[in-house]
Amino acid sequence: MPPNNSMQRTALRAAADAGRWADSDARAEDFMVGRTRPDSVGPVSVKRLLIVCAVLTLWAAAFAPVAFGQVYHVQQMNTEQIRALDRQRTVVVLPGGILEQHGPYLPSFTDGYRNERLTQDLAGAIVAKPGWSVLVFPLIPLGAGGANEIGGKYSFSGTFAVRMATLRAVFMDLATELGDQGFKWIFVVHSHGSPNHYLALNQAGDYFRDTYGGHMVNLFGLIRPELDKVSQDLMSDAERKADETAIDHGAMRETSEILFLHPELVNPGFRSATPYRTRNPKHAADIARAGNWPGYFGSPSVASAAYGAKYWQHFSSWAVDLALKILDGFDYSQIKGVEENPVSQAALEDERRKQQKQSEWLKAKGHER
Ligand SMILES: [Zn+2]
Repeated sequence: MPPNNSMQRTALRAAADAGRWADSDARAEDFMVGRTRPDSVGPVSVKRLLIVCAVLTLWAAAFAPVAFGQVYHVQQMNTEQIRALDRQRTVVVLPGGILEQHGPYLPSFTDGYRNERLTQDLAGAIVAKPGWSVLVFPLIPLGAGGANEIGGKYSFSGTFAVRMATLRAVFMDLATELGDQGFKWIFVVHSHGSPNHYLALNQAGDYFRDTYGGHMVNLFGLIRPELDKVSQDLMSDAERKADETAIDHGAMRETSEILFLHPELVNPGFRSATPYRTRNPKHAADIARAGNWPGYFGSPSVASAAYGAKYWQHFSSWAVDLALKILDGFDYSQIKGVEENPVSQAALEDERRKQQKQSEWLKAKGHER
């Protein structure tokens, strides 16, 4: 149900109580003056009529389409409320989050917590724009390509990924449902570093645009390269030196972000974390291939909630400003984003192996031809 419904229920209950009270007041008055009359005659029926009208109005309000400028949660709404949303002025937000190992100090849902918070920031900013509403979906905990793949480890404690093709299919299916129901604006909030992950979401967005003529924007696919630069710019020289890494995963930035967003989920041992500095992607792959690699790069030990707050402020306002510009007609196709990143072929080979294994089982059981 929309957020105002509990208020409506309270109002309905109050009106019903008022009705009971008004009715008994009238009867008391009748008793005092020694009057008897049928319920349908005289001033009581007028009073009743007014009460019935008030109750009916509140009842109708409880089922009416909700007003503009609200954040709606699709899982709480009924068919009529969803049908009544203005397709031209309702932005659907699809938050996602991969379950991905982030080493011994951070939760596996690190990327999801970031997306969850950004969804709140984004939804709040959109509804502050006159005439716009937001329809938020439940967070989809599926993403492709854990950072453990960098070292050729396709199974790693804490990573529960889906194949690039699976992720693309999930978002293409949702694009189809939303497109068929007439929605025009979708923002996907699903940050995670793997190029395959971003490309799958970009492709689902292209499908929505080409098929339904609307916009399904993979927000992080557009801002990621710039954000990497921002996170470096906000560091002191000493921090940058300590945290040197070609792959930003479980390093100072992410540890700081979670210290800011969910400090209770950070293992305090991060303060004495061994640094895994990397000079370039090849060097990072070599380090991640080692048997004792704990799952992160850089130096979590230099992380702080203060840096996390500073980074969050820049990052969130940047993402939100870009989204608002897009709603005002900004042509985001001119942003290069992550499109230039090549698909990781090694990861795709592993996905083919997994797909084949599943397919063989399905065929053997007669579930697939
Ligand atoms: Zn991450």
